[in-house]
Amino acid sequence: PIALELENAAKRYGETTAVDDVSLAVREGEFFTLVGPSGCGKTTTLRLIAGFETLSDGTIRFGGTDVTGVPPEDRDVGVVFQNYALFPHMTVAENIAYGLNFADPPGGVSDDQRVTELLELIDLGGMGDREPDQLSGGQQQRVAIARALAPGPDVLLLDEPMSALDARLRERLRLQVKEIQSELGITTVYVTHDQEEALAISDRVAVMNAGAPEQIATPREIYRRP
Ligand code: ADP
Ligand code: ADP
Repeated sequence: PIALELENAAKRYGETTAVDDVSLAVREGEFFTLVGPSGCGKTTTLRLIAGFETLSDGTIRFGGTDVTGVPPEDRDVGVVFQNYALFPHMTVAENIAYGLNFADPPGGVSDDQRVTELLELIDLGGMGDREPDQLSGGQQQRVAIARALAPGPDVLLLDEPMSALDARLRERLRLQVKEIQSELGITTVYVTHDQEEALAISDRVAVMNAGAPEQIATPREIYRRP
């Protein structure tokens, strides 16, 4: 089944076409990555899916339902941006609980239980009382992911969550993100400019150029290309 799809999606800013006639479908439970050089339209595509930007043209559907005009808070997505910082004056647990945004946690558990579950999911069990600046960059990004996951969204959107980290931490976080994603089986759209990273963690990759995918394929299919 298809979790979300763009049909002839376009986004223009005046003279600039950021996203140009994109059609793609992400399957339920899939780890789908938009990869390509800076300026090719990855972030804009993600922001269109999240609902932070409105389409100039085309349609977005979630599970077959047209959500084109639907605001972000009604889209059932969790979003982590590159510089989506944690609140420094709140504990880790408070940061994650903030992600609930007054919604009831999924599974009928209490807010505290939900935070505990998520801390374990991101391998930070028992660290809820820490302040963000007591954590490593990779740990902070995992907290940001937990905050996005708190209300139990159907879709997780990640924009270059590793970019501020050094190469070694990036590789570790990459594995952890993949692990979290597989454990939940959550549909994930991931943005990176790093082709190696994209091929390492994705079920399918859309290779973007000048506002549109020029290829959508599995890593295996991309490697096999001469
Ligand atoms: P990427 O994420 O691949 O680096 P972006 O989606 O950020 O690419 O940007 C695609 C193109 O659209 C770039 O030329 C960028 O400058 C332009 N763009 C993105 N957002 C805006 C905006 N809010 N106003 C004007 N131009 C924008
Ligand atoms: P990316 O990491 O995808 O390249 P940028 O750092 O280029 O993202 O852009 C960060 C934010 O600035 C995004 O929200 C994007 O929409 C916006 N933006 C990008 N280019 C422009 C632009 N030329 N004019 C106005 N806003 C822009």
